Amino acid sequence: MKYSLNWDLDSLFSGGINSAQLKTKLAQTKTAIAALGDLLDRWDAASDAPQYQQFLKLITQLQAINNAIGQAGIFITAVGSADVNNPDVAPMEAQLRDLGTQADNVSGKLKKVLVQVPDVNFAEMLAQPDLKPIAFNLKEMREDGKELLDDKTEALISRLNLDGKAAWSSHYDSLVATVTVPFHDADGNPATLSAGQADNNLLGNADPQYRADLLPAWEQAWTDKEQLFADTLNHLAGFRLTEYAAHGTTDFLREPLKDNRLSAETLNTIWQVVDNNKQFLLDYLDRKAALLGKKHAGWQDVEAPLNLPGSQLHHFTYDEAAAFIIKHYGEFSPKMAALAQQAFENRWIEAEDRAGKAPGGWMESAPETNESRIFMTFTGSPNDVSTLAHELGHAFHSSVMEDLPQLRQDYAMNVAETASTFGELIVADANVKAAKTDAEKITLINAKMDNPLAMFLNIRARFLFETHFYQLRQKKLVTPAELNELMLNAQKEAFGHDLSTYSPHLWASKLHFYIDEPAFYNFPYVFGYLFSLGIYAKAQQEGDFEDSYIALLRDTANMSTEELAQKHLGVDLTKPDFWLAGVKLIKQDVAEFMRLTDSLVK
Ligand SMILES: [Zn+2]
Repeated sequence: MKYSLNWDLDSLFSGGINSAQLKTKLAQTKTAIAALGDLLDRWDAASDAPQYQQFLKLITQLQAINNAIGQAGIFITAVGSADVNNPDVAPMEAQLRDLGTQADNVSGKLKKVLVQVPDVNFAEMLAQPDLKPIAFNLKEMREDGKELLDDKTEALISRLNLDGKAAWSSHYDSLVATVTVPFHDADGNPATLSAGQADNNLLGNADPQYRADLLPAWEQAWTDKEQLFADTLNHLAGFRLTEYAAHGTTDFLREPLKDNRLSAETLNTIWQVVDNNKQFLLDYLDRKAALLGKKHAGWQDVEAPLNLPGSQLHHFTYDEAAAFIIKHYGEFSPKMAALAQQAFENRWIEAEDRAGKAPGGWMESAPETNESRIFMTFTGSPNDVSTLAHELGHAFHSSVMEDLPQLRQDYAMNVAETASTFGELIVADANVKAAKTDAEKITLINAKMDNPLAMFLNIRARFLFETHFYQLRQKKLVTPAELNELMLNAQKEAFGHDLSTYSPHLWASKLHFYIDEPAFYNFPYVFGYLFSLGIYAKAQQEGDFEDSYIALLRDTANMSTEELAQKHLGVDLTKPDFWLAGVKLIKQDVAEFMRLTDSLVK
């Protein structure tokens, strides 16, 4: 074997979770945060003019603190993901969270200090050669500062948050751990499934009857505890709304949009495009239902695999997967290929299939050493190769920004999924092209459809639900019956009333509604996916795309999303045209799927 399935964490901090090096780093960071707080108290814009050397020192220190927290954070997360039973991880996580809160407080203080700087001095500051590269970020911080309350109140809110919004969020995890789904195993023997196992089978089990039988058992399991989940959701949202109100707004989408540097107008355009273009996806679902021997697909069939005769998929060894990604990345961008190779060679990836690992996959960057780490479980399926390509896309995004100041690397969630989806699309398409039989091709296109189905229909439903829920929550506590009704209506609207079954308890079963930061953990995914598709469509048209793609990625934390698209793609995101170019690519996949399956359903 050429490449190792296990990552190297020692180059980040040596000696595992109890690393002395890590402890020193955390202690130094704590001291640095306190020192920065003191410096801030003493800083005076007038006497620092006209060169603002003192301020440069302050902002440089803040960025160094953020990087130190990032470096420790990726290490602690990595150790915990690779060994979920390691008891020493949780205390380190708590320590890091505490440091994060302290750093946020200092950063809040700095934002408010900027508000005190008169406009003319502020303009003079931004013109300094060393501050110019972060001018956009400083302006953003100053705007944020205008909404902050006095230091004492802000510190009180963030302390209360630990037992408020953040606490309700982690309480959700404790509740989910108690959910069990009494069902039967594949041989029909009685069994008790955990929420995670049931979820995997509900969406991924190859047997349509098994999935159809599981759905009512799944819904019942959440019904049994619906009051507990409703309390949790109501209080988490209530805390958030009170926090917004204290900062002067009743518009619960204002903050999520601001976090994503996105205008409400753009978001509305996206939803219009999605709504006007979902019929072909509903047709696709009807065809899929027909292939499963049904008239209409149920909730449990949307993401289901299709097991057609002769659809045995290629099994990749890890080395083959690496070679496949490097090769196809290279067709778009030699620099992407080089970064992927570096990740494999330098052991940035933990991919081994073994017990005791966390589920899912992620990429995080190590800002102090300009490296990344990728976590996933590789079983050899084409889907795993796509996942790996997705995470390597994230790593590429980080790598092209590594020489920029930390603030300039702080891109938002909506653009965070751009490079990853881009990487994933390249490899998913290459997989379809490499298929040897029609059946194999059908299976792969079906797997590729998971993304558009999620973005256009499922996440659309979640956004509709969450919007209606927050509207109601502003007036009252929302009962479980009302939550079920809101969710059912949202799903029916998003899926065009086309499904035979729905999942009204998705408001309880979906973790994303319970994430404390950021709020509205849904629309940025849709944005990222469609934005990436639009770029992918452009990349296919233009021959030499690498340089302009990298230039775009480097600007992802340097301007509003609308300005980013205008500057690097020459498009207006508030108009449908750019989004429709991406939709066209999905339509091509569906057309191909329809053509290949035509003879199978007649
Ligand atoms: Zn991602």
